[in-house]
Amino acid sequence: MYYIHNMSKKKSWGFDMKNLDRSARPQDDFFQFANGGWLKKNPIPHDESRWNTFSVLRKKNTLAIRSILESAKKQKPRTGSNLQKIRDYYISGMNVARRNQEGIKSLRPYLETVETIKTKGGVVRLAGMLQLNGIGSLWRSGTDQDMKNKNVVRLYLEQGGLGLPDRDYYLKTDKRSGEIRKKYLAYIEKLHKLVFKKYEKGFANKVMKIETGLAKASMTRVELRDLEKQYNKTTFNGLLKKYPAIDWNAYFSEIHAKKNGTIIVSQPLFLKKTDKMLRDISLDDWKCYFRWKITNAYPQYLGESTDKAHFDFYGKALSGIKKMKPQWERTAIEVDSMIGEALGAEYVKKYFPETAKKEINILVNNLVAVYRERIKALDWMSAETKKKAVAKLNAIKRKLGYPDKWKNYRKLKISSDSYILNQINSYKFEFARDIKKIGKKPDKKEWGMTPPTVNAYNNYLFNEIVFPAGIMQPPFFHPDADDAVNYGGIGAVIGHELTHGFDDKGSTFDKNGEMKNWWHKADRKLFMKKAQGLVEQYDKFEALHGIYVNGKLTLGENIADLGGLVLAYYAYRKATHGEKKTIIDGFTPEQRFFLGAAQAECGIAREASLKLQIATDPHSPSKARVNLAFCNMAKFYEAFGVKKGDKMWRPEKDRVVIW
Ligand SMILES: [Zn+2]
Repeated sequence: MYYIHNMSKKKSWGFDMKNLDRSARPQDDFFQFANGGWLKKNPIPHDESRWNTFSVLRKKNTLAIRSILESAKKQKPRTGSNLQKIRDYYISGMNVARRNQEGIKSLRPYLETVETIKTKGGVVRLAGMLQLNGIGSLWRSGTDQDMKNKNVVRLYLEQGGLGLPDRDYYLKTDKRSGEIRKKYLAYIEKLHKLVFKKYEKGFANKVMKIETGLAKASMTRVELRDLEKQYNKTTFNGLLKKYPAIDWNAYFSEIHAKKNGTIIVSQPLFLKKTDKMLRDISLDDWKCYFRWKITNAYPQYLGESTDKAHFDFYGKALSGIKKMKPQWERTAIEVDSMIGEALGAEYVKKYFPETAKKEINILVNNLVAVYRERIKALDWMSAETKKKAVAKLNAIKRKLGYPDKWKNYRKLKISSDSYILNQINSYKFEFARDIKKIGKKPDKKEWGMTPPTVNAYNNYLFNEIVFPAGIMQPPFFHPDADDAVNYGGIGAVIGHELTHGFDDKGSTFDKNGEMKNWWHKADRKLFMKKAQGLVEQYDKFEALHGIYVNGKLTLGENIADLGGLVLAYYAYRKATHGEKKTIIDGFTPEQRFFLGAAQAECGIAREASLKLQIATDPHSPSKARVNLAFCNMAKFYEAFGVKKGDKMWRPEKDRVVIW
């Protein structure tokens, strides 16, 4: 079956003509042409860092969550039920007066533990205890499927311990990085004074010195794209030998992790340097660092003054947001992010039509069919590699809407009293669940996103694509909209996730979800050469005056954007093959496809937020996601008559098509 639905003549086709900016030529700046009208009418709200198709829908879903929580508030659910938990979490979140009164009370036990430390071993034990309670420091411990063995879950040790969003913020010498560091120091001082009612001289500098040491030991975000380099197997004894200054016995006993079996160290150099720092830095300085980690873990939950200080730095200075979101919205987002599957069943029942699942499933079938044909027809790949690629494609599993099996929250205690304790308990609950998986078979039914989430993902390890209910809505998908707009919207999203399995990272995993080279050497070389073409294109995209996209950091997303659009385009053509070509509002079916695709990426970001995005986010800015991807598509040139001399035109030799 290829048709989703025939468009009803009376209904909108899924694209509002008022969103166009007719003063821009589609051949010069398609993003502006398709979205300029919308952008003009929709300034970024004061409490947002960016405003785009995703954030508008996110807001809608958060309102839906609010209505679930408000109705729960009026009920008297059974103690221990999911309804009781989401209700009480929400009630505790809305009680600002109580937080103002309690202040740092709940953090005091952690701070007191810091003062009892007498040895460097004690420092490591503390790091373990804090990790268990959601307070990050030094490195991170988490579990995941073994990247080279699909049958077992391993403990992964990863770099961490920073307060700024990336290592580069500590090390870069440009003016903005220097300013951010200055503001961070001021924030450390301010929060410290608010919590301790006095200031220890030199405190902020001591913290900064340790964090800078950890930053220097950390891999860059581009280096983090190389997963083979991060697959370093060791054992508990190996840790003892390689990093002798770290008291691993204390650490493992604090986080309740098993000592037997394989452990994966993602960044050995990070642990090596941390090991050295533990020896070189004084106990008193370490105590400063940990006092900071504790105070900066939960400032939003300690009352309005610390909440505001936290917002002024992370919200205002780093992201350019002008004011805080209202408390109901922040709490609704929090409940969804911490115990989202307790809320998910209710959300799905009220807001997700089962029919959407069936229709999306058909769309996925159509995209997979096109991908299969295209792989078989590739002119740069050998028959041998094609066979493996098709096998991987055929093995991709899909999760649509919501989990078949909901997470069990029976052992989690949530009360209407303390917001911060609900937060810590939820974190502890998740961490304990996670650590218990070590050595076991992975549970392939688990989801990594909650049902109201406006997003999707590809998990290479499970070789699966996942689409939560939250994204299966207009403007991405509407059963009554024009097929062209649905394919340009959710179709391109599906294609994007499928292509992630074959991007620079995903393509290093085979059909079983194991990191294994299935490529013929010459094919891999050609693939990387094509990818390099994209790196160069995006490197040249100036997002802000003098600030360029990082082509290497965004490579995986850019491959997925381009692949997704190509697959969706051909799936659309195939689905509507033989249909009479209608013109709607002056646009051909092909043109409407591109309008639908541009609409899905419509949006704008504040300057500060864009700078943060360029430094840390593997996704390119909205405008690049539309214009640069389209520049590579001959079908776009055809649809809008793009000719030499137009700004969107590229000579054929400079266009990149991978999949
Ligand atoms: Zn992606």
